[in-house]
Amino acid sequence: MPIGPQRLLSAEVVLADLDGCLAIDNHPLPGAVDLARRLGSRLHIVSNNSTDTAERLSDVLAAGGIRIEAARIHLAGEILLRRLALERPGAPVSLAAAGEMPALAERLGILRRDEGAAIVALCRDTGFDYDRLQVIARLLAKGAELWVANPDMVHPGPDGLPVPETGSLLAAVHSVAPAAVPRIFGKPEAALFQAALDAARAKPQNAIMLGDNPSTDVAGAEALGIPALLIGPHRDAIARDLDSLLSLALETQGAIL
Ligand SMILES: [Mg+2]
Repeated sequence: MPIGPQRLLSAEVVLADLDGCLAIDNHPLPGAVDLARRLGSRLHIVSNNSTDTAERLSDVLAAGGIRIEAARIHLAGEILLRRLALERPGAPVSLAAAGEMPALAERLGILRRDEGAAIVALCRDTGFDYDRLQVIARLLAKGAELWVANPDMVHPGPDGLPVPETGSLLAAVHSVAPAAVPRIFGKPEAALFQAALDAARAKPQNAIMLGDNPSTDVAGAEALGIPALLIGPHRDAIARDLDSLLSLALETQGAIL
């Protein structure tokens, strides 16, 4: 069911997408700093990012004026690794990942080993190559599970041009292991949204999701019963950016701008 812009100000918890919604390449988009300031601890970030940790993103966003503590930043790659450590302690994991993920895996005590791995974990591995694909093909053929941070094919780079995402690596994996059924953590699947709701101690109907992608942010949230607001260039968007959305919300609420 569609909701009005005023829900932005009245919702108990606001889950917000990062790329293309609050920021591009970690630089705040119009209205993002103001929104973060107005919402305070009601704002949580829900992002399919699978190279950074929440700790690092919190610092990077603070430098751009968006103040949000790490505990309110929920990232697909980090959630995948934390679930691995929690659900499969000691299991050998073949990890394809870059950025801060390998170091986080080590801090969480995840055993990285290609030989006899029970689980293949796939994040946005910027060093992914033929040898890695060969290792993964052999492990999946022998029955290893496939855990994947997110299904996105690309995300927009700072110049607006596409940056290959984890889903593009998953497509390569599917080409050599078509029967593998991935367990996906990022949007539009439920795990990442659920992690954010749990952290916020919020019921789905008392939260809203704010994003720029109808098929991941909006459809994923609504599937869990979280009402959603679409912003950005899409024709169905309620506002082109957060600045316009805030103005609409304040007008609707009858507040003085
Ligand atoms: Mg986005």
